Amino acid sequence: MYVGVDDTDSTEGMCTTYLATELIREFSDFDLIGFPRLVRLNPNVPWKTRGNAAICVRLGKGTGNPRVIGNIDGKELVCYGTGRDAEPEKAHFKRATALIERLAMFEDPKTNPGLAISAHKPPADLYWKAVREVVKLGPHLEHANPKFCHGWKNRRGLIGAVSAMAWRPLDRTYELIAYREPKKWGTPRKVEAASVIAMDKKFPGTFNNYDYEEKHVAFSPSSPCPILYGIRGNAPDYLPAAMNTVKSEIIGRWLIFLTNQGTDDHIINASISNLRPFTSARIRGTIAGMPRIIGGGHLIFPITNGKKTVDCTVYEPAKNFRHVGEKLRPGDVITVMGAVRESPFTINVEKLFVEELATVIEKKANPLCGKCNKRMKSVGKGQGYKCARCGKKAKNSDAEFEVLDRGLKTGWYEPPVGARRHISKPLKRG
Ligand code: ATP
Repeated sequence: MYVGVDDTDSTEGMCTTYLATELIREFSDFDLIGFPRLVRLNPNVPWKTRGNAAICVRLGKGTGNPRVIGNIDGKELVCYGTGRDAEPEKAHFKRATALIERLAMFEDPKTNPGLAISAHKPPADLYWKAVREVVKLGPHLEHANPKFCHGWKNRRGLIGAVSAMAWRPLDRTYELIAYREPKKWGTPRKVEAASVIAMDKKFPGTFNNYDYEEKHVAFSPSSPCPILYGIRGNAPDYLPAAMNTVKSEIIGRWLIFLTNQGTDDHIINASISNLRPFTSARIRGTIAGMPRIIGGGHLIFPITNGKKTVDCTVYEPAKNFRHVGEKLRPGDVITVMGAVRESPFTINVEKLFVEELATVIEKKANPLCGKCNKRMKSVGKGQGYKCARCGKKAKNSDAEFEVLDRGLKTGWYEPPVGARRHISKPLKRG
């Protein structure tokens, strides 16, 4: 049986992945079939708290060789590659319900937990819709048709609960999440930065660990949640060894999740003419004007497909990524990936590909007077030049020009680690 849960946490505490560890503990009379799943959904839903994560576990009787995927309270946790699903029963539903009622942050008005239990995986399109669009609870839940479900408060958490169950990975990554001892929750985290850098270098299959530009440990959250850090990687095998390289406070428990993080599953191929707010698009176009910096340090540049133009925005937290945008010039051909924001209508850039650089010619010097060997003076904007000594005139085009060194190469660019979305595919993943 598949158990999906979402929307149990708040900015004040808890974490839906921690609840997954408790769920696994509660159902220790079953085997875990496959890794527990941490599924990120549409990062543009207005009501998400942080990274729009939902979780799903599959329970039953495992077959084949077990593999160690975690440790809870000093006890190794294993999962099986295959197995026979347990048949969902009312008693299972009651146990899961009681767990959520004990742990979820109900007092937060934005927390609307959802629990679904199903004998089968719901149709895959439920996942693709929920990762790319804003969906309505009614039809979504009806289509999923789980055997048991309960939504608390406005019931919205059910959207994530069934969508997480519906995920069939095309691309996939893994995350080993290390949790803090409960007595440490809310206090400053102790993780030695040098050991994180060492881990990052030793395990090239991991990503988003350390922000070398901002000199910042990126794999630890800053919220008071139970997570100490999360090591993301292309494969699960080396994640425990990577964890053992990191010097930190005592780890209370850890667990490896199968995830859609770093996959770009949220991106839709689109045209500048048919962008829809609250989706994330990949669009190709030509730079239509000079980039400009607005209040707050955000950078804006317009791109066009010849019929329509849209502004693209790189926000201040993206730091040096803005300098890439600043170097763009009218005529450059680029592809942008990012979230379509409704108001102001703009693309929040997550990644960009410089396909073609326009040749930009800039004036180097005013024309030289052949008679006096002196630089002429401008008469006025667009009105040519005149020699101050002999009065000889010259046209604007007589000035000396040079091809601008763009200081920009064709290729892909992305924001620093700390400014990336969980679901965005880092360039390191190729
Ligand atoms: P986390 O903190 O665990 O990363 P989050 O707190 O940012 O996640 P949630 O608490 O899960 O996000 O809140 C997101 C809410 O939006 C959930 O109730 C979820 O069911 C719902 N939701 C998720 N995807 C969609 C979607 N595509 N359309 C509508 N609602 C969605």
